[in-house]
Amino acid sequence: MPPIPAATVGRLVTYLRVLTEMEQDGVRSTSSDDLGAVAHVSAFQVRKDLAYFGRFGTRGAGYTVSTLRRELRRILGLTRPWHVAIVGMGRLGQALADYPSFDRQEFRLVAAFDVDPTVIGRRFGSIQVEPLAVLDQVVRERAIDLVFLTVPASAAQSAVDALGAAGVRGILNFAPIVVSAPDQVRVEAVDLSAGLQRLTYYVQSVPETPIEVAG
Ligand code: NAD
Repeated sequence: MPPIPAATVGRLVTYLRVLTEMEQDGVRSTSSDDLGAVAHVSAFQVRKDLAYFGRFGTRGAGYTVSTLRRELRRILGLTRPWHVAIVGMGRLGQALADYPSFDRQEFRLVAAFDVDPTVIGRRFGSIQVEPLAVLDQVVRERAIDLVFLTVPASAAQSAVDALGAAGVRGILNFAPIVVSAPDQVRVEAVDLSAGLQRLTYYVQSVPETPIEVAG
């Protein structure tokens, strides 16, 4: 299979969201035109993204919503629960621990770690904060796959090294620093400041409304 562009993977997540809403609304079948219209991409793009993974739907008849949704969940690896930990239980880590989407089947928050003795032992929702010293053991025992990394930038690289060595496979890095990781560890960055900077690029080029001068 050719390497799948990251943008395609991002759009698959959007298509899945749209299909889930369609299913909840009782819609049985859809088309690349419909999917593209809701996802704000062209029908051609929808077909191209799906074609990486085989043939879905039938020419003329479109896609069965439930089938395509099931296939996308399989492609995205959502057919089994994933165990998630939070590393860094400061303001952001605590907010994530409270985030309600962890009630869903796919992602289960199973551990939280910190190095601060005043935070270790505290309980947030269903989890108790544990010292980083037990990382290896807990990752192994609770089969932790994914991590929210919410430590200060200065601690992020060493945390990534420790997480990779412990066997974690995916890291969502909130720290504002580019980290390196071994090949078997996938790191995705979440950066609100970078999002604002992308916005200012676009927003700055909107021409100002001309000022009308009364003659
Ligand atoms: P915070 O200072 O409140 O919390 C950081 C926590 O990490 C502390 O509890 C600290 O004891 C712990 N920590 C330090 N080193 C550690 C290590 N090696 N292992 C485990 N825990 C460790 O900071 P915050 O406001 O929660 O922000 C956390 C991170 O997220 C920072 O890097 C911040 O810049 C970043 N952030 C990102 C976004 C975003 O959009 N991605 C938004 C806000 C904050």
